[in-house]
Amino acid sequence: MSATIIDGKAFAARVRGQVAEHVARLKAEHGITPGLAVVLVGEDPASQSYVRSKGKQTVEAGMNSFERKLPAETTEAELLAVVKELNEDPSVHGILVQLPLPGQMSSDLVINAIDPAKDVDGFHISNVGLLGTGQKSMVPCTPLGCLMLLRDHHGSLSGMNAVVIGRSNIVGKPMAQLLLGDSCTVTIAHSRTKDLPEVVRRADIVVAAVGRPEMVTGDWLKPGATVIDVGINRVEGRKGLVGDVDFASAVEVAGAITPVPGGVGPMTIACLLANTLTACCRANGLAEPEGLTA
Ligand code: NDP
Repeated sequence: MSATIIDGKAFAARVRGQVAEHVARLKAEHGITPGLAVVLVGEDPASQSYVRSKGKQTVEAGMNSFERKLPAETTEAELLAVVKELNEDPSVHGILVQLPLPGQMSSDLVINAIDPAKDVDGFHISNVGLLGTGQKSMVPCTPLGCLMLLRDHHGSLSGMNAVVIGRSNIVGKPMAQLLLGDSCTVTIAHSRTKDLPEVVRRADIVVAAVGRPEMVTGDWLKPGATVIDVGINRVEGRKGLVGDVDFASAVEVAGAITPVPGGVGPMTIACLLANTLTACCRANGLAEPEGLTA
């Protein structure tokens, strides 16, 4: 038996289309254009490429894209001044500071200086707290994308056993909160978890966010489980990207699985656009877009 392949690329295109439609309505009916500001410090090639894609897709969705590129030697005070300026700019509804930041800066300090209502990455402590207490928040983009794929595939997730492998603040922990919010029974596994294959074997839903190429193999899975592979890894001597799940063996056991590439990856920017639209609607006291929030 071979699993259903969850097509994140096609789903992300649908999300971007929904966002673009809603943006066009906002412009026509209210004269409002959502705006996303992305701040990049330094010249890390991967970060530059992410920022380029974000800018391009923002414009394609009909939104305003503001890019602030700062040199690597920018001081923390200078970056905080830019964040303050963007916080106060009413044409900016979403602010994203591209991580990682150069060593002389505290990411926590900078992220927590962003107006929580404009924190489209959902990393501000206020948003983390709101999500943890089940209140309306800005939700981190990658876990939000995973949740959308799971809801689309299963409808209700209520009562399912979910195992999230990884406990980072940007993926693992918010993913666990979202699954709990949808009434899954959630286990968070990490590098100290004992007998990980046995823990994973109990899961109806497995979310792998580890950063270890092809760690989760088919024999770890309960037959029919849904597998969401967040991993993006490069392996020397191999072309392209590799997930945290060994796709070849997992596809034979799982019920459904996201491929890498073409699974979770494209959902992240689509959810960033959705979050910017949501932030803009909230800032203007308008109804939020349906199906694009947690
Ligand atoms: P982190 O490195 O911050 O966290 C990795 C987590 O995996 C940690 O909690 C760590 O445990 C755990 N871990 C490491 N080794 C093992 C192991 N052998 N067994 C069990 N758990 C283990 O990574 P991120 O959360 O930032 O990213 C995870 C993956 O997702 C990466 O491949 C990254 O590239 C990808 N990613 C993809 C995105 C997308 O858009 N698709 C966006 C963000 C990330 P411990 O805490 O104990 O150290």
